[in-house]
Amino acid sequence: MIVTRFAPSPTGYLHLGHAYAAITAHDTARESGGCFLLRIEDIDASRCRPEFARAIHEDLAWLGLEWTEPALRQSERFEAYRSALSRLQDQGLLYPCFCTRAEIAYEIARAAEAPHGPEGPVYPGTCRNLNDGEGKRRIGAGAPFAMRLDVQRASATAGQLSFQELGGAPVGEVGHVAVHPLLFGDIVVARKETPASYHLSVVVDDAFQGVTRVTRGNDLFSATHVQRLLQAVLGLPEPEYAHHRLVLDSNGKKLSKRDRALTLRSLRESGVTPQEIRERILAPSRN
Ligand code: GLU
Repeated sequence: MIVTRFAPSPTGYLHLGHAYAAITAHDTARESGGCFLLRIEDIDASRCRPEFARAIHEDLAWLGLEWTEPALRQSERFEAYRSALSRLQDQGLLYPCFCTRAEIAYEIARAAEAPHGPEGPVYPGTCRNLNDGEGKRRIGAGAPFAMRLDVQRASATAGQLSFQELGGAPVGEVGHVAVHPLLFGDIVVARKETPASYHLSVVVDDAFQGVTRVTRGNDLFSATHVQRLLQAVLGLPEPEYAHHRLVLDSNGKKLSKRDRALTLRSLRESGVTPQEIRERILAPSRN
């Protein structure tokens, strides 16, 4: 049975791009007699708002999508993230990182050759070699710290990995894609202000919810490399992936939550019907 999910963050109103992702996940499950789930990715308390979470439910219902209740809220899942973190810690794969953004930028600027990932230069590993005593001393003194995954070590533990890609629009990669775990450097798995991170919570919850096929926009294709690594070192099952194209604006740019005119809310208020939304985003010629 195919189990899919739609996993928005309630940091703004849903737009056409979200509608495309939600409809893709919904229809993939429904066409195969599977199950479509909803997950509210609200670990970042400073950016998420309850009214946006309510609006997600309303907008999806308006689109005519039905998901298996209840929706999972990540803000209620910190216990599970903590236990995943201790599994990583027990394997010696984590280290505390005390760097500020400014310090990281300085280190990168100073380096002769800073490795770059899909989102720019990657963390230069400044705190990776802090000795244990120094780390403990700083923590004891109350210094704020994030936890990072030692990706090289995690990768050595996991061995060569791949993931099964059924979509693959961004680079035309379909089938078994070899994992490049160093793509993002040593990723944060627990932030200074939040005891989890996007990558960690996604893999823990995809497994918890029994998601068998992750359908999502191809802007997250490269994130799959590190998420697959996390699954392997956490001993979690491996879902299939189907990354899909993005809905673009009239300038060919990815829609963002700041594009108010294309929120489902404003389209609805201007008289657009759910059927027209479907036609608009599914028409192959549009994007
Ligand atoms: N919460 C993420 C977003 O809104 C999506 C996570 C995912 O599909 O893996 O972009």
